[in-house]
Amino acid sequence: MKWTNVRAPPVLHDGCSISTTCPYCGVGCGVKASAAEDGCIAIAGDETHPANRGRLCSKGSALADTVGLEGRLLTPRIDGRAASWKTATDHVARTFKQTIEEYGPDSVAFYVSGQLLTEDYYVANKLIKGYIGTANIDTNSRLCMASSVAGHNRAFGSDTVPGTYEDLEAADLIVLVGSNLAWCHPVLYQRVEAAKRKRPDLRIINIDPRRTATSDLADFHLPLAPGSDVALFNGLLRTIEAEGAINPAYVEAHVSGLDAALATARQATYDRVAEQTGLSPVALARFYAQWIESERVVTVYSQGVNQSTSGTDKVNAIINCHLATGRIGRQGMGPFSVTGQPNAMGGREVGGLANMLASHLSIENAEHRKAVQGFWNAPVLPTSAGLKAVDLFQACREGRIKALWIMSTNPAVSLPDAASVREAIEICPFVVVSDILEETDTTRLADVLLPAAAWGEKSGTVTNSERVISRQRPFLPAPDGTRPDWKIICDVAAGMGWRDAFDYPGPADIFREHASLSRVSGALGRDFDISGLAAISDHDYEDLQPTRWPVVNGTTGGRFFADGGYFTADRKARMIPVDHRPPATATSEWFPLRLNTGRIRDQWHTMTRTGRSVRLSRHLAEPFVEIHPEDARRYGLSAASLAILSSGRAEAIVRVLVTDRTQPGVLFAPFHWTTEWSGRALIDDLVTAHVDPISGQPESKASPVSIAPLEAAWYGFAVSRHEMRPRTDYWARAKIAGGWQAELAGLERPESWEAFASTLLGVGGDRAVVVEDGSKGTVRVAFARRGRPTGVLFASRSPVELARAHVRTLWDTTADVGDLLPGRPGANRPDPGATVCSCFDVGINTIMRAITENGLADVGAIGRVLQAGTNCGSCRPELRQILTLASERAAAE
Ligand code: SF4
Repeated sequence: MKWTNVRAPPVLHDGCSISTTCPYCGVGCGVKASAAEDGCIAIAGDETHPANRGRLCSKGSALADTVGLEGRLLTPRIDGRAASWKTATDHVARTFKQTIEEYGPDSVAFYVSGQLLTEDYYVANKLIKGYIGTANIDTNSRLCMASSVAGHNRAFGSDTVPGTYEDLEAADLIVLVGSNLAWCHPVLYQRVEAAKRKRPDLRIINIDPRRTATSDLADFHLPLAPGSDVALFNGLLRTIEAEGAINPAYVEAHVSGLDAALATARQATYDRVAEQTGLSPVALARFYAQWIESERVVTVYSQGVNQSTSGTDKVNAIINCHLATGRIGRQGMGPFSVTGQPNAMGGREVGGLANMLASHLSIENAEHRKAVQGFWNAPVLPTSAGLKAVDLFQACREGRIKALWIMSTNPAVSLPDAASVREAIEICPFVVVSDILEETDTTRLADVLLPAAAWGEKSGTVTNSERVISRQRPFLPAPDGTRPDWKIICDVAAGMGWRDAFDYPGPADIFREHASLSRVSGALGRDFDISGLAAISDHDYEDLQPTRWPVVNGTTGGRFFADGGYFTADRKARMIPVDHRPPATATSEWFPLRLNTGRIRDQWHTMTRTGRSVRLSRHLAEPFVEIHPEDARRYGLSAASLAILSSGRAEAIVRVLVTDRTQPGVLFAPFHWTTEWSGRALIDDLVTAHVDPISGQPESKASPVSIAPLEAAWYGFAVSRHEMRPRTDYWARAKIAGGWQAELAGLERPESWEAFASTLLGVGGDRAVVVEDGSKGTVRVAFARRGRPTGVLFASRSPVELARAHVRTLWDTTADVGDLLPGRPGANRPDPGATVCSCFDVGINTIMRAITENGLADVGAIGRVLQAGTNCGSCRPELRQILTLASERAAAE
């Protein structure tokens, strides 16, 4: 399937394809880039990659839409002026050096990204820890999985993911905790879905405050209170003991700390856990019974567990249950952390977090430091952890960090209390940003911009959530003026006087050094050892097939810990006594609701790439908040109205989605929309900056907020051939085929709708048609040039009711303004409704009609009739929901 207009480079012609890796989530799917028949780039899943076997989700399928040069940063800039690479890197090197000379090494910091390749990460970590001499390097992966790292280290003595994806398929019971796999790790979800189809007795339990697309696949859903996972799993541990399900042989041989953990867990009686989690004793008993009676149980967890001030304790509460029962390291069982980012694991391997060294070695361990320093021949090495993400930006605000380098990430909108982070970046005297895009909320605040090569242009490796190292291979030439991140870092290091230590001809040389360092790690008894790849030739590196670590003496990795062998001094795992703690900030009279933040199916992080895809923008095209019907009534909010969310420090305006999928007292809002895409929807501005005391991971899912209606005087929906940048009180824009769309609202009605629409739509001089209905309070203003529609604004006193999918479709096809003005299809052309399947642009009304008219009973039947769900499969959970809705409606009739 081909979606893009970007021409394939010569390397992809004559039937050639290049295997690479998807740059989005931690599933780490293999991708093949090739040339389509018309010469444009085509993207497909790689059938040979073990993570996905040819599958891709909606985001992966749309990758080719994101590889154009639109918006790219193509020349270094110093204070807004173009500069040569030499001038820019010399300037960065000189300023960092002067800062260090004047204020010491701890006055500088790097903030990096799980989007970086392992080779980029390796040299960044080597430069700052081994040569600059500070551990002030942290990564946006801190926001994603730092609690899992801390929990692993506490329990296993190492940051080891014990199992593999195949364990999910081999399990009898999969427990998904704080993990909307269907939207956040869609291909893993598809593997689970396929396993369940093949083996209907595979049971799935979903534990999440929200009922999500994932819940619909589950046998049952436990909507626990936000932040109460420790109580729930302590109750499980208590029941494991009560039911005699402890595995004494495994514990005796391989585990310590059982008695202390049980002493705490015994407080978790049914009544107490029911009170803390909000779950009924019956629901608890059902969950506990199923967990205990299933020998092969995998407990999968992600951000819902990690993003909490008790995230590390939650991870250990889960691991405790697996250790007590010995259900770890064997096929179909174990605790399983899935990472959010494509190379969060690679970052962990090279020590890209402030509290790690390299190769899973410990910064606090003198023997480890000596080994790394000796290996690098480094002049210096910090003896203690550096500043973690939230503290790092706080240090900028306080003037302690005087030079900061941000690589491939957008902290100005993605960190909690993001307004304070923007202030911190502004206060910091010298800020360097290396990125692929010229305009992001963070690049706008930089003193120096360094243009990085993008996904399709970079060469290196990434590691996915199951420890599989994959090659990311370039299939596009890097545009003139850009450089790969590893090269930029090495150029700056050379400018600082360390040319010899950073004189790498290419990423293969960095990888060999990284693999060689892991031999040192292996010799010190650590888990991460890929020394079997230390002598890899350039040719073999180029051809490297997906490989699970460890890689030692010709063998590659499988599972860990079936027979113990933990990475602690006595080789035993540690059970950790943990107790329930509520979220750090209590709700109050003024901020009575908890805000849970997260992702949607078709967007990635701050939309810098996925926002460019028309196809991905069809699904959910504006920021929204999910609110329970009871709360909507209480706060005077109706469906599709606009709401102001407030944390006391910041406000955001978003569309209201009334649904019982969220529980009373809890709101859900996605964090993707930045100032590029919406007027005032910076959700991370509302998130409190409280962090887990051990992992430093912020609590992104339980911030106290208030909600109130936005009293808008008018609402609007507009489409234009031109790129709209609205200035109204509320707006959200998205790309559509043939132009742009915008949702709008204002506190005051414009004096002249025609003049207002002309400016908004960028259609000055075009012929206007204005249709105003005073009694209904509606206005429609359309513009045309030489008979072709150039822009249309629909405005109304209440949220605009029109068939948006119909307008979008017509926009790209009609030559007649008159077709567009009704905003609804005629009787001869049914309204498709909101897009469900982005790949084939199939709307909910079309699906409902097809179900009713053709008696469709399952997702496969919908696919056969409408194609929906037959490409990437990401909409299959929603198709299942629609089938349920249709049968409920039929039963009610
Ligand atoms: Fe990419 Fe989707 Fe695979 Fe994640 S599941 S790696 S986003 S294709």
